[in-house]
Amino acid sequence: AGTLYVVATPIGNLGDLSARAREVLSGVQLIAAEDTRHTRQMLQAFGIDTALTSLHEHNEMHKSETLITRLLAGEAIALVSDAGTPLISDPGFDLVAAARARGVSIAVVPGPCAAIAALSIAGLPTDRFAFEGFLPAKNAARVSRLRALASEQRTMIFYEAPHRLPEVLRDMAAELGSERSASVSRELTKRFETTYTGTLAQLSEIAEQNADMSRGEIVIVVSGNPDEASTAQSLNADQLLRALLD
Ligand code: SAM
Repeated sequence: AGTLYVVATPIGNLGDLSARAREVLSGVQLIAAEDTRHTRQMLQAFGIDTALTSLHEHNEMHKSETLITRLLAGEAIALVSDAGTPLISDPGFDLVAAARARGVSIAVVPGPCAAIAALSIAGLPTDRFAFEGFLPAKNAARVSRLRALASEQRTMIFYEAPHRLPEVLRDMAAELGSERSASVSRELTKRFETTYTGTLAQLSEIAEQNADMSRGEIVIVVSGNPDEASTAQSLNADQLLRALLD
């Protein structure tokens, strides 16, 4: 049987396509891409003319079956998305799950991922973190998701649409605490790459005043809630003090 290669591609800087990714993308029989025109353009820059087929959220279930059949017949197929690592807030889950279920061999060609890139330069704890992807777009749903995350102790990583940044930072400050440390990274690996750091209150204020912050592609990283145990301890100390004063 063939092999399914899950291949990461650049998140904005063509120089980040690895040598191994190039080798695999030119060697396979077929590349399943989120947007074939977008991927065709990238491949042209490297002189790769492998056949492309589309695999996006609307056809993934159905398309996966066709691809599995070809893999089982011995073909090598690569999966890419428009940017970064497939399956990370991108299509590919149905295909990889189906390939696993059918015993198809799967190999990874790792590379860029905006979440990890942002985390690695945020200056916030990296020993434990939670990838939260995109928050719900609707106001009420977003607030309730943030409320549910208020006690999360791990550093949290969010993808966000640029036009929503000011209101999202405002909601984060309200629900997670205005003094939480966070970072906003935009346009990573590109010409206007910028990372803003500060408390959620400070970042929220910058977003209100500086429209540049909300331009381009954005990752928000927020530090976790300080250890619940220590919070409980300080509460007890507080209660004890009050009791003694009484
Ligand atoms: N699979 C991709 C990855 O591995 O990062 C993510 C795909 S998701 C549909 C697109 C989101 O990723 C954007 O809305 C943004 O939040 C983030 N993103 C992608 N490229 C970025 C970049 N160059 N700088 C900052 N954020 C980026």
